[in-house]
Amino acid sequence: MINGERRIERPLRWAMVGGGRTSQVGYKHRTGALRDNTAFQLVAGAFDMDFARGRDFGVNIGVAAERCYPDYKSLFAEEAKRPDGVEAVTIATPNGTHYEITKAALNAGLHVICEKPLFFKVEEAEEIKALAEEKGRILGVTYGFSGQSMLLQMRAMVAAGAIGDVTIVNLQYTHGYGCDPTGDKTNESQKWRVDPAVAGPSFVLGDLSTHTYYMSNLILPDMRIKELLCDRQSFVGTRAPLEDNAHVMMHYENGAVGTMWVSAVNAGCMTGQRIRIVGTKASLEWWDAYPTELRHEVQGQPGQILYRGTDYLDGIAKDDERLGALHVEGLSESWANIYLKFAIAMDAKNRGDEELLKDLVYPSIDGGLEGVRWIANCVKSAEQGSVWVKYE
Ligand code: NAD
Repeated sequence: MINGERRIERPLRWAMVGGGRTSQVGYKHRTGALRDNTAFQLVAGAFDMDFARGRDFGVNIGVAAERCYPDYKSLFAEEAKRPDGVEAVTIATPNGTHYEITKAALNAGLHVICEKPLFFKVEEAEEIKALAEEKGRILGVTYGFSGQSMLLQMRAMVAAGAIGDVTIVNLQYTHGYGCDPTGDKTNESQKWRVDPAVAGPSFVLGDLSTHTYYMSNLILPDMRIKELLCDRQSFVGTRAPLEDNAHVMMHYENGAVGTMWVSAVNAGCMTGQRIRIVGTKASLEWWDAYPTELRHEVQGQPGQILYRGTDYLDGIAKDDERLGALHVEGLSESWANIYLKFAIAMDAKNRGDEELLKDLVYPSIDGGLEGVRWIANCVKSAEQGSVWVKYE
């Protein structure tokens, strides 16, 4: 159970690049990082493309004016001169900037937390993974839904054989906000998402499905995709070559099969993230509409619902429990859980505690790299005419 007591000696001095007043995701980072007051302290930032707005925003959330910087380069350079300079930085800027800012942050000796999709190319992710290792720094990736404790319960139940051998993996992350194309021209957060120069080689595959794909790997750590087929299209034609809808079929190395439906044009859909894992004896299903519940359906028996915060759950799920049973935990707790693990990982790295790092389950550079690989394989299949491609 998490009750806010410190897990590391002292909170890490933390900065943000991006995540300013108008950003979609910035507050989620702060909600996560600052939840317990014992993991991170926000002391600096280059919050916005617009310096005056970013500084005003920074001051309004409690950062000293002189530590609100015009850009990431001056942030890293000036903070390095201070005895109390930042130790970790979050990068919450549009996709096309992640690679250069992450590289600069690692070279400045900082631990990094970066948004997904991490980078455009697998080679970039491999290069940055090697750089993080060389510098002895942690790189966490904010798959923000993945800190929900019932996903860890799924992981534990699959490992314990509760559903038999896994045969079918059914994944979905969809919403309908892309049905109206007006925002592609008028909304700052939407414009870049449909511009390949900034978004990268995909729209919804990177924006949405990387989350659900990471969560499936969290639940099924031993399963690897052997080959996949991706059919992607843009129902709003101006988004081409990027997709606002895609279906992916997967063949796993162990003989299991899977599907992913990802979409920004699932009209009217407000709770569209679902994960169903089917085994030879039973199935598990998690749905973001009821994040504290897990359906366990055994063939031939009445279905069961497992609830978060209860004694009968596995220890790994109970460890990340915050509010007790009867109360709804959700996305805020999920972000707090992953940020707490980022802090624990960074502290362990600083102390050279590789044993702790080996067993810590959190979205690391490996999960970020796999997300980039997933997009690359999906795009490759789609561009070849939606054919099966070997997963590499
Ligand atoms: P946004 O366009 O809403 O906001 C971007 C913010 O970054 C703005 O404050 C902007 O001024 C600032 N910015 C842009 N370039 C900058 C730079 N070079 N230096 C400093 N600040 C800069 O974007 P968003 O929707 O918040 O998305 C940002 C990133 O977060 C993207 O990679 C996106 O995929 C990801 N994201 C993740 C989640 C999640 O659940 N993990 C949710 C939404 C977005």
